[in-house]
Amino acid sequence: MLEQVNAGRERRASIIKSMRFDIVTIFPGFFESVFAHGIVSRALKNGLVTVEAHDLREYAHDRHRTVDDRPFGGGEGMVLKPEPLAEALEALGIKSKNPADEIANRATRVILLSAQGRLFNQQVARELAGVERMVLVCGRYEGVDERINELYCDMELSIGDYVLSGGELAAAVVVDATMRLLPGVLGNEASGQYESFGAPDAEIAAEIDVDGPKVPRSQHGAGGLLDYPQYTRPAQFGGLSAPEVLMNGDHAQIRRWRREQQLRKTLKNRSELLEGAALSAEDMLILDAIRGEGKL
Ligand code: SAH
Repeated sequence: MLEQVNAGRERRASIIKSMRFDIVTIFPGFFESVFAHGIVSRALKNGLVTVEAHDLREYAHDRHRTVDDRPFGGGEGMVLKPEPLAEALEALGIKSKNPADEIANRATRVILLSAQGRLFNQQVARELAGVERMVLVCGRYEGVDERINELYCDMELSIGDYVLSGGELAAAVVVDATMRLLPGVLGNEASGQYESFGAPDAEIAAEIDVDGPKVPRSQHGAGGLLDYPQYTRPAQFGGLSAPEVLMNGDHAQIRRWRREQQLRKTLKNRSELLEGAALSAEDMLILDAIRGEGKL
């Protein structure tokens, strides 16, 4: 039985292309526990993804394995020096490039984690999930000598408007969010589209084979909105009841309720997302009603 399951897995893994992540870091041990759980560890076991952390210090050749130096021009702290990083990247097959090189069709993306980078979001994760291999460079201290960015990196990514003490956490975020979008990684293929920041409804509708009337939008996908809240047993908890509408089995009503909740949450927590969301006339009416609730 187990053999059958494994054979099935191997077949699946060989049909579905796997993606490779190489991480350059001074703390390779950091990633051991990060990727040892849940969906990510299953994807690693199934061979759908490969992740390898490479120790930058192995590419430093002095007695102290020095990877940092003082910044030119003065100022606080230290900077990761270019030679060990360049050697580590070359060892991974990354060539120093002309900054004007076209990257669109390249199978590998070299990414520098940086607070100065383009903001990483679900859209960027979807773009990256289309490449064969990602190489992630983790900065430390005050950052990385800029020439590494110019010579080897395709993009700088920031995971948010705050400063971390190193690129490792950011790299883990990028790897996790990207890998769960790869075919076969999530148990349910569709669920990656149907959650917060999901694909626009129009794209989802085009991919779904629906007979007869179109499935109401609220059932499939956040479509640029945040996801709706979830409830499970027990029905009563902490003096609060799970919403009655979820118990009565009326699916049209449940879909309408969930859509309204998506609109409510998005308006309350991330109102700027409404501008990019595909909203129906009914959605607009619901939003007007929600906006009017607090007023006389
Ligand atoms: N002096 C830099 C911050 C350096 S923090 C600045 O002000 O921009 C040290 C390292 O942590 C960076 O080189 C980068 O790799 C990582 N890092 C910090 N904040 C990050 C963020 N928001 N996103 C991605 N990486 C980040």
